[in-house]
Amino acid sequence: MTGFATAQVQAGHSVSSAAIGAIPPIHQTAAYEFASLAEAADLFSLRKPGIIYGRNANPTQQILEERVARLEGGASAVAVASGQAAVAMTLLALAHRGGHIVAARQLYGGTVDLLQETLDDFGIGVTFVDQDDIDAWRTAITPQTRAFFAESIANPIAQVLDIRAVADIAHGAGVPLVIDSTVGTPYLIRPGEHGADFVVHSATKFLAGHGSSLGGVVVDQGTFDFGADATRWPQFTQPYTRFGDLVLWERFGQGQAFAVLVKSKYVHDLGPSISPFNAWQILQGIETLDLRVARQSATALRIAEHLAQHPAVSRVHHPALAGNPWHDLAARYLPRGAPSVFSFDLAGPDDTAFERVAAVVDRLEVFRLVANIGDARSLVAHPASMTHSHFTATQRADAGISLSTIRLSAGLEDPADLLADLDHALAHADVRPDTLET
Ligand SMILES: *Cc1c(COP(=O)(O)O)cnc(C)c1O
Repeated sequence: MTGFATAQVQAGHSVSSAAIGAIPPIHQTAAYEFASLAEAADLFSLRKPGIIYGRNANPTQQILEERVARLEGGASAVAVASGQAAVAMTLLALAHRGGHIVAARQLYGGTVDLLQETLDDFGIGVTFVDQDDIDAWRTAITPQTRAFFAESIANPIAQVLDIRAVADIAHGAGVPLVIDSTVGTPYLIRPGEHGADFVVHSATKFLAGHGSSLGGVVVDQGTFDFGADATRWPQFTQPYTRFGDLVLWERFGQGQAFAVLVKSKYVHDLGPSISPFNAWQILQGIETLDLRVARQSATALRIAEHLAQHPAVSRVHHPALAGNPWHDLAARYLPRGAPSVFSFDLAGPDDTAFERVAAVVDRLEVFRLVANIGDARSLVAHPASMTHSHFTATQRADAGISLSTIRLSAGLEDPADLLADLDHALAHADVRPDTLET
């Protein structure tokens, strides 16, 4: 079973009896019965693999984990309650006590909040760098650095990361590269093939694809050797005190130890478990991932080309368009096409930007004003007043967002309806500044 589409429909699940349903069941249970006290003791001490309680794992969740690990070409995975939880668990496990993270400044707004406020509260430092400035990654490294973090394709501007270049610097410093590939999806890009050691997803977006359920996944590619510099990674190489003298790296090894640590400590202690029902919903979505993403990417490119010709639009940020600063990286890293999440700027001055954006957005009928991406429905958002409203003007400028930037996530509707909807809104919203009321 080697094909991507076969894996997205079947990986992680096998039907062992004719009485069992063909699709994965929802194991709606909080806890599990043990065959004997001896078995319970083995499970509680990690001597035997298995599930002791629903906070740590669930059989439906395990199918999801195996399926996403397979799609990313990874060794193991952990599914949690949201993408935000997946990022937080991953970085807490790597940064451990007093660690430092070098992160792209072009990140999802929630991740910026997590890094600069909550992880800072925990004593974990962060240095943000311009992800395209390869020297800046190298300069930001400190003796405490334990991870590099970036998105394969950022949003709303759709910058494409040179994953290989950043991975080489991380590995030169002895730290792993973590890539949030939510926008990329394993269908368009597999960061592990370009040097990433951990791949994180908000499964809420394209993996689910239906916008009904939150979830997150982190995949361990099995490439990072925490044993190579043992003193730097005591969470893997020193006795895991809650399990006596157990050493995770010795017992579970490369490709598995990270998932065991995340589940038995961080998810166990902090509690962001995925519900069986949400894991099941996301599995249903994954079965059509390649079909949806291919269609959405093609639709998005058509919209981008159309908007690039439109007089009310000053700029389209889509990396497949000629002249886009990330066009060459997109050609190299995204042979199947660019993601369906991109942005465009309305023409006109900043002081009337909000009113002009509102005039367009509020006229859209097929596109929905929703703070989400990767849904079957086409969605728009206004980063400056919505997803990135916490950003300072400098952070906004660094992220490439202007006050008139509109983010678009192309869905599965008829492309002609989407184009007509945009044309109607752009034409009826009079964007000439001299006709706006003051
Ligand atoms: C949405 C998103 C997240 C957070 O995921 P949730 O499932 O909403 O918690 C993280 N990274 C990116 C790139 C996202 O788009």
